Amino acid sequence: MIDVRQIPILSDNYCYLLRDEKTGAVAVIDPGVAEPVLNEAKRLNWQITDIILTHHHYDHVDGVAEIKALTGAKVTGPTKDNHRIEHLDETVDGGDILTFGSQTAKVFFVPGHTLGHIAYWFEESNILFPGDSLFALGCGRLFEGTPEMMWQSLQQYLPLPNETIVYCAHEYTLANAEFAVTIDPDNQPLLKRVAEIRRLRSEDKPTVPSTLDEEFKTNPFLRPNDPQIRKQLGMMSATDAEVFKEIRLRKDNF
Ligand code: ZN
Ligand code: FE
Repeated sequence: MIDVRQIPILSDNYCYLLRDEKTGAVAVIDPGVAEPVLNEAKRLNWQITDIILTHHHYDHVDGVAEIKALTGAKVTGPTKDNHRIEHLDETVDGGDILTFGSQTAKVFFVPGHTLGHIAYWFEESNILFPGDSLFALGCGRLFEGTPEMMWQSLQQYLPLPNETIVYCAHEYTLANAEFAVTIDPDNQPLLKRVAEIRRLRSEDKPTVPSTLDEEFKTNPFLRPNDPQIRKQLGMMSATDAEVFKEIRLRKDNF
């Protein structure tokens, strides 16, 4: 089993502390800053042994140097970002298996937001850390890759079990929800979810994690094949990649 703790950092990031209950190994995923992570680990009396990274953006890596210096933790990150992430001890790529304590995660190569982006799926615990590739009701902006590339990346999540828990890296859900209803206005599970998101945010509570089941039913970026969305966009005969591209474009201009 893995004990997961969510730590809000910076303006809207989440990073995560994971404890492997069998060995006591503790990993931090995407520490964009060191202090709140070190404080939470200290409060829990957890010794950080591993630092695990999804991509090179500052809000995911800027705490690495300090945490590594203070704990001696091993740093693992994307092979294709080796040239632009400092302090890496080990790199992993799509298809590789990450090990921390007695736990293993399958690594997905999910370029689009950046060209080196990877995600981690702890299959036994059914936990997905997609970084900035997939958000609750959204997906990452395409800073480096193409829409076709991002759609390829996201399709790797479609075969995963519905009950997979998705710990994404930002609290962007309310803005994503407001966009999603504009292109999928009659989706009842979506409307229900949006109401719940509004309630949670009005109480300053996190909307993350979600489950893949929720995302499969309500996240427009995972559903370019959905007839209702296609009808709303007037793209009944387009390819999934074309519909995905249009949804991403509309969100960028929303
Ligand atoms: Zn990012
Ligand atoms: Fe980010």
